[in-house]
Amino acid sequence: MEEKNRELAELSNKDSLTGIANRRCFDATLEQEYSNLKQSNGVLSIIMIDIDFFKEYNDYYGHVMGDECLRKIGGVLKYCIRCSADLAARYGGEEFACILPDTDINYAVKIAERIKQYIHELKIEHKKSSVSEYVTASFGVATVRYSPERTPAEIVAIADKLMYKAKISGRNRIEYAEV
Ligand code: GH3
Ligand code: MG
Ligand code: MG
Repeated sequence: MEEKNRELAELSNKDSLTGIANRRCFDATLEQEYSNLKQSNGVLSIIMIDIDFFKEYNDYYGHVMGDECLRKIGGVLKYCIRCSADLAARYGGEEFACILPDTDINYAVKIAERIKQYIHELKIEHKKSSVSEYVTASFGVATVRYSPERTPAEIVAIADKLMYKAKISGRNRIEYAEV
């Protein structure tokens, strides 16, 4: 039954575990918002979020607690991304992503900082993390303009690279760039 519910949720735009948008909805929204930039000549920001040491979390606390942690972080995103134009999604596994149309780099970083702060305030114990006593995440924030040479997938790759930079420079931090 649960499997069936999961399938049905996938067919819709919602992630069945966290209740926020799923990957399919993220991809469709990004495609639309990016093509809107062609006319508006404006900017768009993306935030990629990846939980730190989540494999260790699952190994130590178990998958049920792991799922609960993902649900709580989904809740933080729901709370922080409340503008109707913005979208918070579960990108896959322990990765989340936000689309912020018409949002410059300064404001996008502010939102990422707020999410980081609220994740900290959840105070989810993580004894196996090397960076904090609580669950943390690493963030990549990219602000882009439309370019015919750049696809939505390449924009995600840019934000993902910045997130990876946050990982290798110590985790529990935000890296950002305007490209
Ligand atoms: P890093 O700090 O570099 O991001 O390390 P990490 O351990 O977070 O990353 P890694 O990619 O090695 O592990 C991700 C883990 O996330 C693997 C898997 O156990 C867990 N995971 C992915 N999806 C789910 C899920 O739906 N539920 C649960 N409980 N765990 C999940
Ligand atoms: Mg990951
Ligand atoms: Mg991770």
